[in-house]
Amino acid sequence: MRVEVILFDWGGTLAMVDRQADALRRGSMEAAGIVAGPNDSEAATRLLAAFFSAEAEAGADLVHREVDMWAVLARWASSTGRPVDAHRLAAAGQALGRAWTGSLDRVPGALEAVRWLRDRGYRLGLVSNCSIAPDYCHQELARQGFAGLLDLVVFSSEVGYRKPAAAIYEEAIRRAYPAGRPADLSRVLFVGDSPALDVIAPAGMGMKTALVVREPGIWPEADYARARPNLRINAVTELPALLDRAGPDPGG
Ligand SMILES: [Mg+2]
Repeated sequence: MRVEVILFDWGGTLAMVDRQADALRRGSMEAAGIVAGPNDSEAATRLLAAFFSAEAEAGADLVHREVDMWAVLARWASSTGRPVDAHRLAAAGQALGRAWTGSLDRVPGALEAVRWLRDRGYRLGLVSNCSIAPDYCHQELARQGFAGLLDLVVFSSEVGYRKPAAAIYEEAIRRAYPAGRPADLSRVLFVGDSPALDVIAPAGMGMKTALVVREPGIWPEADYARARPNLRINAVTELPALLDRAGPDPGG
């Protein structure tokens, strides 16, 4: 397959998110401790619930607007009935972000595969739905070692829109082609585990796609039935063997 740009999803593709919910629970307890006092476990539970419901709402939003973590925090803080100044709110948000950072685990071999692709001359990017504030997303990507290997990184919390909104893919394409967006995107490969977000939407824009196959039940069956990826892989570690070993445009 001849491509020149490869755009990766993050969760379920380059990293696993199994420990994320626990980290957010811990972070909510710390944040509640700062805003509502150390023994208000009810406030912590309500904060965590507010995040999950904001994320579910964002997922169902017709224009796919991303959660504003700071707005969710501010609404929750005012609902505690305690006076909350900006300083304390910032400290609560930082506690939440710091607790989340470190909770994503690199897929084994993914870093080596990404490095291999970079060394061959492919331009690489990340396009991720993440409702955590961008600073923490960038820190976590750097901690995993991916940040220095990627030419562009686009988080939904930065763009304000989630996949499958066109805006987030277009932002990635704009950064991948600083001299101008090509009309034909067939030399861009999108790689991810969601049949709707990482295959159907980018394929509809003319990109090639690779679906990372996961265990059943993670994504709706109807999405799998509609998705027509160019490649099906069990992990990103399979990509180097499937792409041109010489890299994009050998000799030219
Ligand atoms: Mg994913």
